[in-house]
Amino acid sequence: MNQAGTPCALNDRLTGFSCIRCKTKLPIGDYFEGCPACLASGQPSSVRSEYQDLPTAISRFDARGMARFADWLPYSAWVSLGEGATSCVNFPALAAEVGVKGIIVKNEGQNPSGSHKDRVSSLTVTRALDVGAKRIAAASSGNGGASLALYAAAAGLDCSIIVTAALSPIHRRAITQTGAELISVEDALDRWRLLGDMGKETGSFPATNYLIPPVGSNHFGIEGLKTVAYELVEDCGDELDAVLVPTSRGDLVWSLYDGFRQMMAGGHIARIPRLYVVEPFPRLRKVMQGFAPNGSFPGKTSLFSIDGFTVTYQAVEAVRASKGGAVVVEDATVVQDAARLARHGCYAELSAAATLTGLETLLANGTVGRDETVALISTSNGYKDWPDQVGPA
Ligand SMILES: [Zn+2]
Repeated sequence: MNQAGTPCALNDRLTGFSCIRCKTKLPIGDYFEGCPACLASGQPSSVRSEYQDLPTAISRFDARGMARFADWLPYSAWVSLGEGATSCVNFPALAAEVGVKGIIVKNEGQNPSGSHKDRVSSLTVTRALDVGAKRIAAASSGNGGASLALYAAAAGLDCSIIVTAALSPIHRRAITQTGAELISVEDALDRWRLLGDMGKETGSFPATNYLIPPVGSNHFGIEGLKTVAYELVEDCGDELDAVLVPTSRGDLVWSLYDGFRQMMAGGHIARIPRLYVVEPFPRLRKVMQGFAPNGSFPGKTSLFSIDGFTVTYQAVEAVRASKGGAVVVEDATVVQDAARLARHGCYAELSAAATLTGLETLLANGTVGRDETVALISTSNGYKDWPDQVGPA
């Protein structure tokens, strides 16, 4: 059974962290601004967990959901609302219609707050409790804030979610229903400034990035996203040639890469699928073409979950190391593809349906072969969109 108020227990297999760019080893601790050496050089970089004596089996059989992977995560026990164990569904009719060997959808909308962010919030909230924080805070475009607010409520932690006026009424209600404080600011930069100030001035535990240029979200939390890769390996083995990932700052694509990397090191798969970032205007694609990753890449979109003008090093590394890439999608086409997915039985948020749009582009330009099997990560449920967002269907 999952426990909303489980005592926190660090995994004794966790030996520390290391920088994903310069490989510097760091003791177990909180690195809200990523690797100190890379920060000092002006190129902020996230850190990854390091473990010893990882088990040979992928998961335990005496637990359910994400808890089955407790040996592979920084905490052995955490505040849980039943996250993980989402469906992995084969859509042969959709694959035939699109003209590709196989399409598998990982339905992360089945998580407690309706998005993949729950795998992160469970561990982030647990870390905050473990270090004695009384308040946790995050900058959010919607799903991350709704998820964190829910888990903070379950943990008995005070919570502040910093948003802009663009926040949807659906997410506004989801956040305020938990009793969390909702703070609205002018723009994304103000969100990060305020979050950084709150951490320094009031001691609230920052769950998300506040740096410019940014790093990934909390390094204890995003470890939970590796379990998406573990579940894909359990369900698909070596079947997957490519995975399409809705991406803003790259927590998910990085963790997928790191999870697949661990699975390959453990002999569970022979290869890492190519990871393709799906974005609403060129950001990572420009970086792959030679632009510096710490630049600004503004654009406009109604796909709120993958909006933003920045690129993180972790996203760059995941795409390069997996030999994947970045694909840009148009909002109007995504709206059509969301309806198309629904007609096949998959109700996905627009930002998640963007993976189908991205796949069509990658097939058309030959980057993904017609004889390949791909996974689309449906990061969030279709109920998260609202009618005014995109106009009439
Ligand atoms: Zn570093």
